[in-house]
Amino acid sequence: MKRTVSDPVLIIGAGVAGMTAAVELADSGIKTVLVERLSTTGGNALNLYKAFPTDDCFYCFEGNRSRPGIRKCFYRSALTEQPNIDLKMNCQVEEFSGTPGKFSIKLDIGPQYIDPKKCTMCGLCIEKSKAFSLVSPQCQPQAVTYDPKIEDEGTTIAVEECPTKAINLEAKGTKKTINVSDIVIATGYHEMKPVNVDEYGYGTHPNIITQLELAQILDPLGETKGALLRPSDGKPAKHVMMVQCVGSRDENYYPYCSKICCVYALKHAAILTQERENVDVSVVYMDIRTYDRYEKYYRDTREAGVEFVRGRVASIEPQKDESLEVIVYDSLLDKYLKFAVDLFVLSSALEPSSGSSQIIESLGLKSASGFIGASNPETEVVVGNRIYACGSALGPSEVPESVTQARAVVSKILQNRKCE
Ligand SMILES: Cc1cc2nc3c(=O)[nH]c(=O)nc-3n(C[C@H](O)[C@H](O)[C@H](O)COP(=O)(O)OP(=O)(O)OC[C@H]3O[C@@H](n4cnc5c(N)ncnc54)[C@H](O)[C@@H]3O)c2cc1C
Ligand code: SF4
Ligand code: SF4
Repeated sequence: MKRTVSDPVLIIGAGVAGMTAAVELADSGIKTVLVERLSTTGGNALNLYKAFPTDDCFYCFEGNRSRPGIRKCFYRSALTEQPNIDLKMNCQVEEFSGTPGKFSIKLDIGPQYIDPKKCTMCGLCIEKSKAFSLVSPQCQPQAVTYDPKIEDEGTTIAVEECPTKAINLEAKGTKKTINVSDIVIATGYHEMKPVNVDEYGYGTHPNIITQLELAQILDPLGETKGALLRPSDGKPAKHVMMVQCVGSRDENYYPYCSKICCVYALKHAAILTQERENVDVSVVYMDIRTYDRYEKYYRDTREAGVEFVRGRVASIEPQKDESLEVIVYDSLLDKYLKFAVDLFVLSSALEPSSGSSQIIESLGLKSASGFIGASNPETEVVVGNRIYACGSALGPSEVPESVTQARAVVSKILQNRKCE
């Protein structure tokens, strides 16, 4: 296969880290192939409402000077229009081969049922059939998605009536082999579903949720339009209890600290106490790790009346009125306390994204508790010869850190290109 010095850079994962790397490489004149396995970009940050440290819109915030955040609003940047970015949605890498600087990548590209260039997001298909949905009104590419696993009689009507003829249910997936010079792994994290952590009853009662699920309730673009409602009966939630270190710092699950869950738990506690009326928040913890400047969230939430209980949850009993009776052992007071709780929110561990182990194995990389490990501890983002990683693919990380790492990757690639 013919190669040129300008083979593109492959970026796996279109979350904050992958998008930053793609946009900055593209703006520097380097072609990229940005591969995302879902039908929309944004990754975990797509539905998180406000972002620490600035409490701004997730994609538009600017960090302070010492640790900059994203300076571009991805929702408004023409990610899909930038000629140097070849964005491939519903796409996965099937095989890596070749040598550093001359990799061959076999891609498995899923069917494109909706043409984003034609879809005007008019919403007609969503009205007609459950198989169509809009992941977020701000999604990129700007188009609805279709799930072929959902059977609905309205689907044929939606196809016929789509005003721009954007739907093609006969679309087929393709396989394609591309040549790339460098590989950037930006596959992010997954919030552990704590179904096996029996003591917290996740999956046994709808009002027991995770922090990521709470973020989606708080999001004004989410299902409840930002209203704090109990999933069990849609009634307003008045008392929220959060439990820290669920599955993290625990030899039975993940021995490491997930690093950012204390901060986002307190960000949520701050939103609940400052933006919602008559909501009480209690946080059950063993240690609160609000690193760096995030100590502010701890101080602010204490001042706002959030109750911090150092100890362990002893039992949870569902009540007839859909609330939960939670007994907590307070290790500072050495006594058991009883709470009536509407929403029981678990700060569950952040684990490597599925497929990370295959990438590590196929490329012969180091593993750091299942995340991508640095090949040299001094340059965290360099994980192999012409192979880089950034963001939560390297371990739980906040957005500013993910962005900084993505920029470090871009700078390494630009240096290499100069020497070629
Ligand atoms: C509840 C909660 C609240 C948070 N709040 C904040 C906050 O306020 N401020 C803050 O700075 N951070 C916050 N974070 C952290 C933030 O979500 C991460 O910093 C950010 O999402 C990391 O971006 P990323 O691109 O590295 O990973 P991700 O967002 O995980 O994106 C990875 C992308 O890669 C794709 N992918 C994965 N594997 C593959 C594969 N094999 N092939 C193709 N595509 C793949 C995924 O589909 C995804 O789109 C929060 C996290 C949680 C859980
Ligand atoms: S009906 Fe067509 S144009 Fe309207 S949202 Fe659906 S796919 Fe897009
Ligand atoms: S950040 Fe906080 S909640 Fe998360 S694992 Fe570490 S100590 Fe526990």
